[in-house]
Amino acid sequence: MKLVFLGTSAAQPTAERGMTCICLVLDREILMFDAGEGAQVAYQKARLGWNKRMKIFVTHLHGDHCIGILGMLQTMSLQNRTEPVDIFGPPGIDEFLAANLKVLNFGLSFPIRVTRIREGTVHEDAAYTVSACGAEHSIPAFSYLFVEKDRPGRFYPEKARQLGVEEGKLWHELQQGREVQAGGRTVRPQEVTGEKRRGRRIGISGDTRPSPRLEAFFTGCDYMTFDSTYSDSLRDKARENYHSTSVEAAELARRAGVSNLILTHFSARYDDAGELVAEAGAVHRSVIAARDMLEIEIK
Ligand SMILES: [Zn+2]
Repeated sequence: MKLVFLGTSAAQPTAERGMTCICLVLDREILMFDAGEGAQVAYQKARLGWNKRMKIFVTHLHGDHCIGILGMLQTMSLQNRTEPVDIFGPPGIDEFLAANLKVLNFGLSFPIRVTRIREGTVHEDAAYTVSACGAEHSIPAFSYLFVEKDRPGRFYPEKARQLGVEEGKLWHELQQGREVQAGGRTVRPQEVTGEKRRGRRIGISGDTRPSPRLEAFFTGCDYMTFDSTYSDSLRDKARENYHSTSVEAAELARRAGVSNLILTHFSARYDDAGELVAEAGAVHRSVIAARDMLEIEIK
């Protein structure tokens, strides 16, 4: 599992940074969070694959977070994609897509399924859930939380053999967390597996002010990417424009017990995010700045 940052600038691009777009790359699927203008250009550079299973989650309907969906869809279609794409976003996402597809006369080689989201669980399958919480921005906006389901503990074949459990179907049962009969007794999964592995939690703030609700929402995240549009000397500007400063992001991360904070969505006035990382680093012990094409392996 890895996070790939395709765009890390706020509102307008710079020579080094494109518009907001973050991919969470899973084994068999890509979850894209926002797609600002040019998302497909960065996506192509990252070589993430045009026919992978994909879901796109939009935080809010400002152009720098959603216009790139159109380019993504068009390029996917030119690449003869056949897999459907699921798109989730605030009310209006459906009209935005329908109107643009109509006016631009798009023909797509694959189906899209669009869902207007509300707070709560947005998507759930066997491996993970994605949920949404209202953010505090100038228009309706959401933050997203990816939570992987707990995975069974590591299986120890030697222990199973010692207890007289034959390899094959019975091992599979134990690996799935079910008891089996072997050697004249009941063997419980705990006897042959390590501790359950806790699912990983990844938070994506989108554009927002810090808030107590988001602090609760992101509690215990292994990684959280957070709006860090301004340095702390521009706190007033952050408040005015419904964004956060790097220090506000770090304060929220610390209070929420977030293990690793990734700052992103930097104002174009910052050529280098070093200053923002330094001041946030005084508040939280693990802070890095996202940059375009940065990949972070999620352990
Ligand atoms: Zn933005």
